[in-house]
Amino acid sequence: MNLCIIGSGYVGLVTGTCFAEVGHHVTCVDSDLAKVKMLQEGHIPIYEPGLEELIRKNVAAGRLNFTGSIAEGVDKSLVIFIAVPTPPQEDGSVDLTFMEKVSRQIAEVLKEYRVIVDKSTVPVKTGEKVADTIRRYNRSGAEFDIVSNPEFLREGSAVADLMKPDRIVVGSSSKKAADIMEEIYKPFPAKIIHVDLNSAELIKHASNSFLALKISYINAVAAICEVSGADVMLVAEGMGADHRIGRAFLNPGIGYGGSCFPKDLSAFIKISEDLGYDFQLLKQVQKINADQIERFLKKIRSALWVLKEKKIGQLGLAFKGNTDDVRSSVAIELAREMMEEGAVVTAYDPKAMEKGRALLPGIKLVPSALEVAQDADALVIATEWVDFRELPWKDIRSAMRTPIIFDGRNLLDPEKMRALGFEYYSVGR
Ligand code: NAD
Repeated sequence: MNLCIIGSGYVGLVTGTCFAEVGHHVTCVDSDLAKVKMLQEGHIPIYEPGLEELIRKNVAAGRLNFTGSIAEGVDKSLVIFIAVPTPPQEDGSVDLTFMEKVSRQIAEVLKEYRVIVDKSTVPVKTGEKVADTIRRYNRSGAEFDIVSNPEFLREGSAVADLMKPDRIVVGSSSKKAADIMEEIYKPFPAKIIHVDLNSAELIKHASNSFLALKISYINAVAAICEVSGADVMLVAEGMGADHRIGRAFLNPGIGYGGSCFPKDLSAFIKISEDLGYDFQLLKQVQKINADQIERFLKKIRSALWVLKEKKIGQLGLAFKGNTDDVRSSVAIELAREMMEEGAVVTAYDPKAMEKGRALLPGIKLVPSALEVAQDADALVIATEWVDFRELPWKDIRSAMRTPIIFDGRNLLDPEKMRALGFEYYSVGR
């Protein structure tokens, strides 16, 4: 099938590539012409495991191409996916200007029947607004159907998540559009859940908010563990073995960040408020998350006494492991807060140095963990890169001025680290 993806970012680019990989012909559109040029020249603007090879392969096979022209994509394709940003506004509500603009742009070039699929994360009832906008701005009278097909990929494992999803949600009131979506997703080994438009939109916000809730829950349990002498990792294991609970997302640490959870949670709270419901539970989830970084900083202050002029090495800038994405990264916030208190922070991240530098003027970046440790008064682990588990810890200890580690992601084994001569702090144990 001929497909068009509008917005070639983390979601659009990976989705388009995976559709090409299963045999569809995909046109990826982006308004950022520098990004389009880069992609046309074979350079990939984001890091995502496995993505570069797949893009090369599908471009070479003639199934994947990039353009700055929405008209070209809409002309060639039966189905148009929208994957543009839906950033948060000051009051937590979703800024839908990108969605509105794309709806108008599609309307202006729509000449015959198309299925218009929203993949961006949007408030319930946005699909209805997209339909109204297209109707208003389209002059040809062409028919179209609107579908909500929320995306559940995780950055860092996006290709694998898309190729083998847990479920595919398709929200539409049109049988014709639902059948076309079935056809597109036939090669993917996953259950397709057909629902109405509004329910599909709600599934995404309700899912992300629930995952954030699990993280805040285990972080609250971690606080109890710290004062009671229990070990939160053992508690999480014991809880997670119950299939009704599950072990996933019971990972204590300095809290969730990234471009999705914080904004989707704020959005869901605001959407609920606008619909007349005060979602107090989610407000507490947010509060626990915000407290978590403060509780961690308190630990650092209490061990180092004064941060001013202390040389602190930070491992990790990305919002989580396996990605170069630093949007709303707690690691960035942590470095910023320590620098504001006068600490001299040196950092290393396997993939996010360039993007991190832009957000942290004045930070010193070095190309290895060992260099981060050089003469440091303490090391802080801020991102759960698995590579950090296997670092040359003996050499690191020798390189440090005082061998103190604050492990904000509970990546390391406390007993092993103490046996190696480190003063070791982590979360909830
Ligand atoms: P992104 O910023 O990485 O990419 C969006 C792209 O859209 C950018 O390249 C931008 O230039 C382009 N764009 C903006 N306006 C355009 C226009 N008028 N025409 C063509 N291109 C345009 O964003 P993302 O992370 O891919 O997120 C996109 C949506 O998917 C958001 O709603 C987000 O909440 C949702 N989502 C993201 C993830 C994730 O892990 N990143 C997962 C699931 C859902």
